Amino acid sequence: MDFRLRNWAGIASLAALLSCGLAAGQEKVPDWSKVQIKVTRVSGNIYMLEGQGGNIAASVGEDGIVIVDDEFAPLAEKIQAALKNLGVTDKPVRFVINTHYHGDHTGGNAPFTNTGSTVIAQDNVLKRLTSGGTAGNGGSVKMENKPAEKAALPIITFEHDVTVHLNGEDIRALHFPAGHTDGDAIIFFPKNNVVHMGDDFVRYGFPFIDVAGGGSVQGMIDGVEKAAALLPADVKVIPGHGALSNLDDVRAYVKMLKETSAVVQKAIDAHKTLDQMKQEKILGPWQKWSNDFVNADIFIETLYNSLTGHKGDFVKHN
Ligand SMILES: [Zn+2]
Repeated sequence: MDFRLRNWAGIASLAALLSCGLAAGQEKVPDWSKVQIKVTRVSGNIYMLEGQGGNIAASVGEDGIVIVDDEFAPLAEKIQAALKNLGVTDKPVRFVINTHYHGDHTGGNAPFTNTGSTVIAQDNVLKRLTSGGTAGNGGSVKMENKPAEKAALPIITFEHDVTVHLNGEDIRALHFPAGHTDGDAIIFFPKNNVVHMGDDFVRYGFPFIDVAGGGSVQGMIDGVEKAAALLPADVKVIPGHGALSNLDDVRAYVKMLKETSAVVQKAIDAHKTLDQMKQEKILGPWQKWSNDFVNADIFIETLYNSLTGHKGDFVKHN
């Protein structure tokens, strides 16, 4: 199945279409003027913002605002207005932490930088935003990324971890290698008992794994398990996409990732081809995780490419 998305706005639109039950192929650039920013108080001074694209976490307090991810550029003003409307502080968004490089999480970097915020991300986020290239599952899912403009680039990068000390909290970004991408960070708010997992944990079903962008299913499993081991049982989990979650939701997701990758590995060991795996519907028992973005065939292909190290062609733009 040839399933191509033109850009991250297409993904955002698809995610919106999912809830309407419309088929893939009808994606289009969203009408940004219609997007509303829904704000949910998660715990203490931590909020979750949902508009179009990845979920945003916000620490809002006396020192100002720190946000995790920033959706798309046309939504930056609405995001800033939603934060101001909380009535907690008139201080600006001082820091933006990116969970990874994808445009539905970093698209707002430039307008936030241009209004005084400092963007922080893992080293590989800077590399991939700078170079541009093709994101994808190593097969039929491909998305072209142009090199980002200067204002969209992180100013501060880190290799392993960084901590932002604001609003009485040690907000910690911790890098987990080769999961959803090669630049993933999971962000911990320990005082408020909240975590933002980026796209290492999503709620739309089978996840997109950017194999071409250095991601892998094994890294995703390892990262989420290691992060979960650091968290209290009653932690509130903000997923990269979808509703506020808890550790049971995370465990069910990891269980699915382990089971499905074991099934595909077994088929690889039995020298089955990708086509045979699809024809035999080897992920049939996990059908409820199939979705319009990553259906069972695309997830078989993703796992196959991840487990065999087939990354596809990562094409650099000059
Ligand atoms: Zn992503």
